[in-house]
Amino acid sequence: MLKAGVDMNAQRKTLKSNVSISGIGLHSGIYTTVELRPAPARSGITFVRADLNGLRIPALQASTTALDYATTVGKDDVSVGTVEHLLSAIMACGVTDVDVHIDGPEVPIVDGSALPFMHLIDAAGVRDLGAEVPLLRLREPIEVVDDGKSIRMTPSNRLVLKYKIDFNHPSIGKQSYQFDYHHDNFLRKIAPARTFGFVRDVEKLRAAGLARGGTVENCIVLDDNAVINGPLRFRDEFVRHKILDLLGDLALIGRPIAGEITAHRAGHALHSRFVAKVIEAAARAEEDFGEAAPSEPLFA
Ligand SMILES: [Zn+2]
Repeated sequence: MLKAGVDMNAQRKTLKSNVSISGIGLHSGIYTTVELRPAPARSGITFVRADLNGLRIPALQASTTALDYATTVGKDDVSVGTVEHLLSAIMACGVTDVDVHIDGPEVPIVDGSALPFMHLIDAAGVRDLGAEVPLLRLREPIEVVDDGKSIRMTPSNRLVLKYKIDFNHPSIGKQSYQFDYHHDNFLRKIAPARTFGFVRDVEKLRAAGLARGGTVENCIVLDDNAVINGPLRFRDEFVRHKILDLLGDLALIGRPIAGEITAHRAGHALHSRFVAKVIEAAARAEEDFGEAAPSEPLFA
């Protein structure tokens, strides 16, 4: 069994200053401004609907309301969509506490990647809040499986994300990638990877009220044979983007996590089931430990 030690805690971090970015939402087509603001220790990552009396929506699994093509969090009838690329950058920068003010229903897609958000957070600067948060670690492997798709996590001291995809398309095919969690790794290898979509799905998506803001400027677009708006940023940009999405969805656990996570052909819906299972397993482990104080590393 792993012993308690400094490496099992992470510093709680927030931003040094306010920073903002504006743009169109991929699915809604609505133009919004997002302003990231420093927040106190233990407040977590919170979306604040600036246009609706500052209604606060915690970026937690319990807040997820939709998982079709993007991750949406909400409260009552109010939501914030396509949160995963911003959350991914927040995770990569180790930020645990931040208020995300937004004046509409969807985070701007910007260029389809997490790079603009990384630049934004790096420009604001990150500071320690003088408080620690224990890393969530499970002692047993857990797995979610659905129709040939799976996500499995095995215990580890570090966060490692491995992803494999297999698309029946000449420009994608089989791709796999391993990401060792680290700010600079993310900045160089994962953050620039853009979201992607298929021309053949556009009509169906638009009929469902989705992809209204999607253009060749903010996502990789593929017809049946090829990428129509190349060049790609990486030959394997697709699988790298899947890792970007997964890291963003892991933010909804609500605390930093360590483990070796292997995803195969997954997407937001399975990411969400996985996150729910992690939270469940962590709660069970906490029960097993009885009276253990919340500041103790409960899951090692
Ligand atoms: Zn994405």
